[in-house]
Amino acid sequence: MKVTFFSSKPYDKEFFDKANQQFNFELDYFETHLGPHVLNLIDHSDAVCAFVNDKLNAEVLESLSKKGVKYIALRCAGFNNVDLEAAKRLGLRVSRVPAYSPEAVAEHAMAMILTLDRKTHKAYNRVREQNFALNGLMGFNLYQKTIGVIGTGNIGAAFAKIAKGFGARVLAFDITENQELKNLGIDYVSQEQLLSESDIVSLHCPLMESTHHLINEDSIKKMKQNVMIINTSRGGLIDTKAVINGLKSKHIGYLGIDVYEQEDKLFFRDLSHTIIEDDTIQRLMSFPNVLVTAHQAFFTQEALEQIATSTLTSLSHFEKNEDFENPNAVLI
Ligand code: NAD
Repeated sequence: MKVTFFSSKPYDKEFFDKANQQFNFELDYFETHLGPHVLNLIDHSDAVCAFVNDKLNAEVLESLSKKGVKYIALRCAGFNNVDLEAAKRLGLRVSRVPAYSPEAVAEHAMAMILTLDRKTHKAYNRVREQNFALNGLMGFNLYQKTIGVIGTGNIGAAFAKIAKGFGARVLAFDITENQELKNLGIDYVSQEQLLSESDIVSLHCPLMESTHHLINEDSIKKMKQNVMIINTSRGGLIDTKAVINGLKSKHIGYLGIDVYEQEDKLFFRDLSHTIIEDDTIQRLMSFPNVLVTAHQAFFTQEALEQIATSTLTSLSHFEKNEDFENPNAVLI
C-alpha cells in the first residue's frame, strides 16, 4: 500500500518510518497542507494521511477518490476537517487516532495554567537579566480553587484527575457522565453552574455545530470576574472577538490557548520573517495575561509513537478488511 502524507514534518517522518518497520508500506511525505491546490501531488496512492489543518471537503475527497485513493487516515483525534457525508457517498474509509496519550494534552493544559498563574515564563527572562525582584510575579494557589472541565472524554478525564491532584474542587460538564471521575469526588453540574462557579475553565469537548463558539459574549457574562480560560481542544470553541473584549474589560483575567480558529494560516510554520496579517492573533499576543502555544499539546514522544503505530495499524485493518480493536478509530 502506498500512503501519501500531507502537512508532514521531520518528526512525523522519524516516528512513522520507525513504526512502518512492522508494516512495510510505501510512505510518501509532503510538507504542504492538503487542499484543492495540491491534488496533483497524489500519484497512484491507496491512502492519504492527513493532519488537523488539512482540508478534506467534498471537492478534495471527490478528486482523491477519482485518483484511486481508498483510505483516509487522520493522524489526530479531531475530525471536524473532514466532510464525512461526502466520504461515505464516495465509498472512502476514514480512520482517526481516537486516544493517543490523552495525558500529553491534559498535562499541557495544566502547564498553561501554571505558567499563566505563576508567571514562570516572565521569571525565566527576568532572572537571566539579573533582575531578582518579585514585583508583578504574584500568583494564586490552585489548592481549593474551583476548576471547571467541559468535556470529560479521554483528555478531559485525564485533566480532571490532574486538577484533583492539586487539591482543587473540580466541576465537570459533559453530555455523558464518567462514573470513575464521580467516584474520585468530581461533581457533574450544569454548564451554567460550572461557568458561574469556576476560577478556571478548561475546554476538552470536540468542535461540532453544538459546541461552536461555546465561549461567547453570553457565556463570558456568566463567568466569575478574573476567570482563567484554557483551550487545548479546537479554536472554534471560542469566539475570539468576544474573548478579546472580555480581556479588555478585565472580566477575563487569563487566557491560555493551544488552538486558534484561524490557526491553519499560522501554526506549524516558522513565520518569524513574515508580516502577520491576522490582526486578531496579534491583538491576543499583545496581552500580558495571554499565553499562546501553537497546537503543541499533543507533542510528546509517547503520543507520536502511539499516533504512528495506531494510524498504520488502521490502514492495515482497512487493507485486510479486518475488524478494528478500537471501533472508535473508524469514522467510516
Ligand atoms: P473524546 O471523544 O474522548 O471526549 C470528548 C468528550 O466531549 C466526550 O466525553 C463527549 O461526550 C464530550 N462532549 C461532546 N459534546 C459536548 C458538549 N456539547 N458539551 C460538553 N461535552 C461534550 O475526545 P478527547 O480525546 O478527549 O479529545 C477532546 C478534543 O481535544 C478533541 O476533539 C480534539 O479536538 C482536541 N485535541 C487537541 C489536541 C492538541 O494537541 N491541542 C490533541 C488531541 C485532541
